[in-house]
Amino acid sequence: MPVNIEAYHTIRKELDAKKITLVAVSKTKSPEAILELYRAGHRDFGENYVQELKDKAATLPGDIRWHFIGHLQSNKVKFIAPFVQLIHGADSLKLLQEINKQAEKNQRVIDCLLQVHIAEEETKFGFDKNELGEILKELERNPLAHARVVGLMGMASFTPDPTKIRNEFRVLRALFDQQPSFRILSMGMSADYGIAAEEGSTMVRIGSILFGERAGIK
Ligand SMILES: *Cc1c(COP(=O)(O)O)cnc(C)c1O
Repeated sequence: MPVNIEAYHTIRKELDAKKITLVAVSKTKSPEAILELYRAGHRDFGENYVQELKDKAATLPGDIRWHFIGHLQSNKVKFIAPFVQLIHGADSLKLLQEINKQAEKNQRVIDCLLQVHIAEEETKFGFDKNELGEILKELERNPLAHARVVGLMGMASFTPDPTKIRNEFRVLRALFDQQPSFRILSMGMSADYGIAAEEGSTMVRIGSILFGERAGIK
């Protein structure tokens, strides 16, 4: 399936007007497809498998800003620490500590978002509201100099009910607003980015609208 450049320009214009960053989610898509969007001027791309990200980053242009949007295992942080722009889904202190360690090794500071569990579904990773409060307190007591928490990320329930999605995004935005130092709120995907934008998202992660549906469950 070809990249939908027309949809890209339309969405980009819409989001630029609201100062929302578009992360083009290119997981499972070919380097050629990524290059097509790159040539249209895009630089922020999101991947959710470490090996795939590492392989793509090694061959694609060096000025691409790579976002890791999936569940990241601590033992794999080292593979992306040299270059990753933003880790969206930090979901444990252990992971943040490992990011800190690997970032320091690479003499970098890596920006991270804490993943918050806002959906009803059990399968999604992330902190609940209380755990979020606890981890923020812990980070205040013991700051990590090389893993900088700059905001929150969340995924709404997979549901056709827009009111439910909107309410979940509102919860996330309210948590975001409690931390004056936060500057990135990553919420919204192909199916719900319009609602996310209305509810105060600053960064959306869009795959299928741009690249077409993915095969399988990835
Ligand atoms: C795959 C994925 C997306 C993009 O999903 P689309 O529905 O294709 O836009 C966004 N965020 C995360 C965390 C993903 O894994």
